[in-house]
Amino acid sequence: MKQSQTLIPTLREVPADADVKSHQLLLKAGFIRQNASGVYSYLPLGKKVLRKVEEIVREEMDNAGAAELLMPALQQAELWQESGRWYTYGPELMRLKDRHEREFALGATHEEVITSLVRDEVKSYKRLPLTLYQIQTKFRDEKRPRFGLLRGREFVMKDAYSFHTSHESLGEVYDRMYTAYSNVFRRCSLDFRAVIADSGAMGGKDTHEFMVLSEIGEDTIAYSDSSDYAANIEMAPVVTTYEKSGEAEREIEKVATPDAKTISSVAELLNVSAEQCLKTLLFKVDGEYVVVLVRGDHEVNEIKLKNLFQADVVELAEHEEVNEVLGCTIGSLGPVHAKEGVKIIADHAVKAITNGVCGANEEGFHFINVNAEKDYRVDQYADLRFIQEGDSSPDGKGRIKFAKGIEVGHIFKLGTRYSEAMNATYLDENGRTQPMIMGCYGIGVSRTLAAVAEQFNDEQGFIWPKALAPFDVHLVPINMKDESQRTLAEELYSLLRENRYDVLMDDRAERPGVKFADSDLIGLPIRVTVGKKAAEGIVEVKVRKTGEVLEVQRNELAAKLY
Ligand code: ATP
Ligand code: MG
Ligand code: MG
Ligand code: MG
Repeated sequence: MKQSQTLIPTLREVPADADVKSHQLLLKAGFIRQNASGVYSYLPLGKKVLRKVEEIVREEMDNAGAAELLMPALQQAELWQESGRWYTYGPELMRLKDRHEREFALGATHEEVITSLVRDEVKSYKRLPLTLYQIQTKFRDEKRPRFGLLRGREFVMKDAYSFHTSHESLGEVYDRMYTAYSNVFRRCSLDFRAVIADSGAMGGKDTHEFMVLSEIGEDTIAYSDSSDYAANIEMAPVVTTYEKSGEAEREIEKVATPDAKTISSVAELLNVSAEQCLKTLLFKVDGEYVVVLVRGDHEVNEIKLKNLFQADVVELAEHEEVNEVLGCTIGSLGPVHAKEGVKIIADHAVKAITNGVCGANEEGFHFINVNAEKDYRVDQYADLRFIQEGDSSPDGKGRIKFAKGIEVGHIFKLGTRYSEAMNATYLDENGRTQPMIMGCYGIGVSRTLAAVAEQFNDEQGFIWPKALAPFDVHLVPINMKDESQRTLAEELYSLLRENRYDVLMDDRAERPGVKFADSDLIGLPIRVTVGKKAAEGIVEVKVRKTGEVLEVQRNELAAKLY
C-alpha cells in the first residue's frame, strides 16, 4: 500500500479528550476517529489490525470446533420479552421502533437470537453438542463510554454459544474455550490472566474472565503470589459462616444507614443509578422469604440468585411492596429491620459500603452473604469481608496481591436459563423432552485491539507485535524527488511484496523529519529507509522495538528480514 493512496491522518498533538495511551495513540497515529461518544470509525490502519485480531480469534474458534455464523444486529423485542430481559436489561439496551411501531433492540448480546435459532433447527440429542459463533458489532448504551475503543457503545465482539445434553459435555466445551481464549490472547502478545469471575453462587469453575494486566484496568484482580488462584475482586469475598440463632434481626440492624449522598456515591461507583442500587428481589426459599438487594441492571444477579436458592423470584418488587409482603421495613439500603426468619442478603451495593469504600467502618459490620468457595446452604449465615492484599489465598497457597485488569474475554456456563425461558428443547434417547444446556463465550475484539495498543508503545508511538501490526514493513524513501531513491524504493516495494511482506510505502513528498516521526508513531515492526546510499543499492533497516539499525544491500534484503 502506498501512503499517497490511503488515509493515515496523523496528528502532532495529543487530542485533549483522550486520557489513556491507547486512545491517544490510536487517534494520533490515524487508526481511528470518533463519531459520537463511544462510536468510532476504523480508518485503514485500524481496520487492518482489527482484521488481524479477528483472524486469530477465527482460527482459534475453528480449532475449538465452533462454526461461524452471522446473526442480525436488529433484534425483535419479542425474543427479549420471551427471555424476560426486555424488562430487566435496563438502559444499556438500545431500543427502537420500526415504521409499524414494532419494537426492536440493537444486539447487545445474542443469547435470545441464537436460542430461538437453535430451538427451531435442532430437535434431537443426535445433533448436540453444537457450538456456534459470530464476530459482529454490538451495541450497548454504556453509561460512561470511555478510553476510546476500550469501552465503546458500538464495538466488535466475538460471541459463541454452545448447546448440550449434559453438564459434562458443557464442561468439555468450556475447557476447550478456555484453552482457545488463552491461545488468542497469547498470540496477541498480551500479558493476561484468567480469573474466577464469580466465586459466589454459580461456583468458581463456572465463569472466568480473561484480564489483561494494566494500570488503567477497571477491574481489580486478587491473585495469589504462589499459585494459580486469581479472582475478580468484586467477586472474591472472604466468607466465614457462623451459626444461625435468630440473629437475623440483630445482624441486620448493623447495616449502615447511608444518607442520600452515600447512596449516590455508591451508585456512582457501581455505575448504576441510585434507584437501581435500591432494587430488591424477593425469594421464597423453604417457606422463608429472602430479600436481596441487588444492582438492578444486572440480570445476571437474578440468574445467580435463582440458582443459588433453587427458587424463582417471587416478585420483582419495589420497597413498598416488599414491606407489605413481609411486614418489615426496608428503608433505602438501611436500616433494615426484618421479622425473625427473614434473611436479608445485601449484594454489591451494600458490599461497597462494607468494603469501606464509602467510609463506613469495616470492623462494625457483618453482612449476610453467600459462601464464596464452599457450597452455599440456606441455613447458614455468612460473614462477608472483602479479600485484602496480604490475606492468605483462598486455596491455602501463598498470599493475595492485587492488580488492575481489562476484561477482554468472558466465558460462562449458562445452564438452562435461556433454554427454559424460551423453550429450547430436544428429544433425548428415550424420546423425552429436555431443555438444552448452554454456555456462552465472549471476546471483546475491538477492546483487545485497544489493550494491545495500551501495552505496546513508547514515547514515539506504537510498537506493534508482529502478529497484529497493520503492515510488516514500512518502506520510507527519504526523498521521492531523488531518482535513484525513488527507483530503488519502487523496486524493493515489488520485491518485498513478492516475498509476501505486507508493505506500507511512504511515497509522500514530506520532509524526512515528518516521515520518520510518522513512521515511529505508526510503529510497524521494521522500517526500511531508502536514502543517500540508494545509488549504491544500500538501504537502512531499523527494528522498531529495539532501535537496532543495520545497513543492507538490496539483494540481501528479503532474506535479512526473515
Ligand atoms: P464490562 O465489565 O467491561 O462492562 P461486560 O462484562 O459487560 O464487560 P460481557 O457481557 O462479558 O462484557 O461481553 C463480552 C466481552 O465484550 C467483554 O469481556 C469485553 O471484552 C467486551 N465488551 C463488553 N463491553 C464492551 C464495551 N462497551 N466496549 C468494548 N468491549 C466491550
Ligand atoms: Mg458491561
Ligand atoms: Mg464485566
Ligand atoms: Mg463480562
